Amino acid sequence: MSARGRSGLAAKKRNTDSVAVAYLGEGAVDQGGFLESLNLAAVHDLPVVFVVEDNDWAISTPQERVTDVEFASNRADGFDMPGVHVDRDDAVAVYEAAAEAVGRARDGNGPTVLSIQVHRRMGHLVGDPQSYRSDEDQAAAMDRDSIERMEGHLRDHGVDDDAMAEMREDAHARVDDGFTPIINPPEVAILGVSRVRERAQPDDDGVAFRETLPLDLSFDHRVVDGADAARFLGTLAERVEDAGRYAAE
Ligand SMILES: [Mg+2]
Repeated sequence: MSARGRSGLAAKKRNTDSVAVAYLGEGAVDQGGFLESLNLAAVHDLPVVFVVEDNDWAISTPQERVTDVEFASNRADGFDMPGVHVDRDDAVAVYEAAAEAVGRARDGNGPTVLSIQVHRRMGHLVGDPQSYRSDEDQAAAMDRDSIERMEGHLRDHGVDDDAMAEMREDAHARVDDGFTPIINPPEVAILGVSRVRERAQPDDDGVAFRETLPLDLSFDHRVVDGADAARFLGTLAERVEDAGRYAAE
């Protein structure tokens, strides 16, 4: 069961109004763990929103090569839960769809799958030349910017330059605060260390809430072997846990 599925189960058992939100890319929707999590969440009516960020590419693999399903949200059909597809680059539409899904979960009506169509304006990681993408595909992605679209939307509703600048500054500060890349050169891998958060985790008595330190390793698959990267991350997690302060995940 996924971490977000566990959080949803914990929220239900504790009878809180918490809603767990699980984020994944479209490249993960055909994996067994995701489909099993959908099933469990549906069977137990768990307050979970599965958000699939669909940018057409799983690193260098185009979506049409690995699945015949048009939208990831269609996966919900097999589990008798709502699946909603939101077209590309529209933050307001995303907000409205998310609000409805969260409300549905909070009202005890179970999970929803949202697929959010976005575009990838850069490589999968630093140093990715994107030689597998056509020039047209990359140019089309650069022409569509959800932030610019949102800025136009806000200006249409009377937001002025000062307020816009303040929002940009606040957004940058939140990103800087939430994600710190501490390994970069020689630009084949980036280790992300996020903020310490309280998370539900299984223990001998059922579910316990522990402080966790999310670690995320992105690496260039053409240079770094996946097993080596997994070993590195596993060793790092052990060291963090040995220090006795956090559970790494
Ligand atoms: Mg993707």
